[in-house]
Amino acid sequence: MTAVIDPQATLDTPLLADSVQLIGGEWVPAASGETLEVINPANRELLSRIPRGTAADVDAAVQAAERALPGWRDTNATARAGLLFRWAALVEEHAGILDQLESRDVGRPHWGPSPLAGMIRFIAGQADKVHGLSLPTYSPDVLGFTLREPYGVVGAIIPWNAPGPMFTNEVAAAIAAGNTIVIKPAEDAPLAPLAIARLAMDAGIPAGVINVVTGLGAEAGAAIPNHPGIRRVGFTGSPATGSTVMEACARNLIPLHLELGGKSPQVIFPDAELATAAQAIASGITLNTGQICAAGSRVVVHRSVHQEMVERLAAAMQQVTVGPWYQQVNMGPLINGKQHERVMGYIEAGRSGGADLVLGGDTPSGGDFGDGFFVNPTLFDNVSPDMTIAQEEIFGPVLSVIPVDDEQEAIEVANGVDYGLVASVWTEDVGTAVRMSRALQAGQVGVNNALGAGVIGGPFGGYKSSGFGRTMGADAVLNWTQTKTVSMRGATRPGN
Ligand code: NAD
Repeated sequence: MTAVIDPQATLDTPLLADSVQLIGGEWVPAASGETLEVINPANRELLSRIPRGTAADVDAAVQAAERALPGWRDTNATARAGLLFRWAALVEEHAGILDQLESRDVGRPHWGPSPLAGMIRFIAGQADKVHGLSLPTYSPDVLGFTLREPYGVVGAIIPWNAPGPMFTNEVAAAIAAGNTIVIKPAEDAPLAPLAIARLAMDAGIPAGVINVVTGLGAEAGAAIPNHPGIRRVGFTGSPATGSTVMEACARNLIPLHLELGGKSPQVIFPDAELATAAQAIASGITLNTGQICAAGSRVVVHRSVHQEMVERLAAAMQQVTVGPWYQQVNMGPLINGKQHERVMGYIEAGRSGGADLVLGGDTPSGGDFGDGFFVNPTLFDNVSPDMTIAQEEIFGPVLSVIPVDDEQEAIEVANGVDYGLVASVWTEDVGTAVRMSRALQAGQVGVNNALGAGVIGGPFGGYKSSGFGRTMGADAVLNWTQTKTVSMRGATRPGN
């Protein structure tokens, strides 16, 4: 077994073997024996190989999950929580290597303290707090109550941009509720999910409760909502794929939740603390090279502070250093060649659409860029709300500034896209903050907060085409449960 370990890294625990996935507690190759290459996006070097799973592997995983289901579902909720807490402790212990695996796979620099153990702990704490309600009844001889029950074997499909958090959230919430799961990580970034699954096994979570099938979306991914044994699906990814997954779920009458894209507005009022806003917005749009669903990619700014804001944004974005993850840089490459082409295409659309290119728009050269998929932080000014770069998710470090004249126009522009994931408002005035928090159509609103993050246990999800269902907080566990109403008649007395 070849461990996926950077020889330069100061790591001592090989967490992964080459070309295996997790089915029924066993690390196995694809049924077909075929593999896919996982590439380091900073230099296109081979990082690892993963099994090219297909419907046969998904079928084996569903069968394993079915075998594990009765034992797991009937394990009392406090005991399930205990296992999740042990998993969290191991994830915390291995935070360094998990961060490095994700860095290499996604190409991002170190992100600061890992959120993973905390995410699992929050969900573990919910496991034994999921309960039904007692209900009024028509007769004193009847008791009425609801039970919150798991669906059974569930499926999840996740993207490559934040594979550790995506995997952790979906899996922890699904199994905390008593489901067993088959999950497919993205083919571009499967390493951290496989390692986190390995730690779940080490923590004593029984074989078959978590099954990880690797492979391509059209092969392994598509097999999940199309498998008759799957009772619910969680999908995070692009709207186009989400729609395909939803069609399959509709055909098979399986419920699902969708976490899709975003085109998040940053609304700047004249009284905002502009220096802070510019810094936070520049960091937000370059974090993970802009490949974040919550990225604030549109700056909707009052005309009176427009010029100053553009200057401040340009200055802040110019400070962002670009390079491979192991250098002390702020921003790595894009994930792959296709994404690079896509982002450069949007930049060209901005130029030809008549927006003013203030900064970037090109690929960095010189330095340690090699064959990596790098792009410079890019700032467009005087973007009109109907331009392609103002409407479509670019998923790159490209910021569009749209000047507006008043609050009403700001609301119309901010809400004038199909997406509704995150929206931020920058103001020192409480009245403006209150009005805007209500007016903005988004699942998350940040006030003086670029990514709308920072709340422990906040439910996360979209309005409009950004999806439905919530994948964090207590709602995440409830998402993976169904409600049963029980009406219980006591002794069968005559006339009762
Ligand atoms: P994607 O839709 O291309 O892929 C997502 C996953 O779906 C991958 O695992 C892929 O293999 C799989 N897949 C592809 N085709 C499939 C098919 N036909 N059937 C089943 N599965 C299939 O998305 P991506 O490029 O990996 O991720 C980027 C997108 O994800 C962006 O739009 C981003 O906004 C979104 N995203 C949303 C959130 C959120 O919480 N709302 C979080 C992260 C990313």
